[in-house]
Amino acid sequence: MAVPRNRSSRNRKGNRRSHHHILAKPLTACANCKNSILPFHICASCGHYKGRNYGKTEATASS
Ligand SMILES: [Zn+2]
Repeated sequence: MAVPRNRSSRNRKGNRRSHHHILAKPLTACANCKNSILPFHICASCGHYKGRNYGKTEATASS
């Protein structure tokens, strides 16, 4: 197992962890039910993606 040779200073540790924050998810609106969804994902509430329904129960049926 690799063992650290030197103790990393508080400054160096903080600089390394300055990139560890979590970015906000890029939410978009569903084309069918206008719910907030992740882009390139099937809608969780109505199951629509690119104008088609992929299995889930339809909240607002269009076809
Ligand atoms: Zn939807």
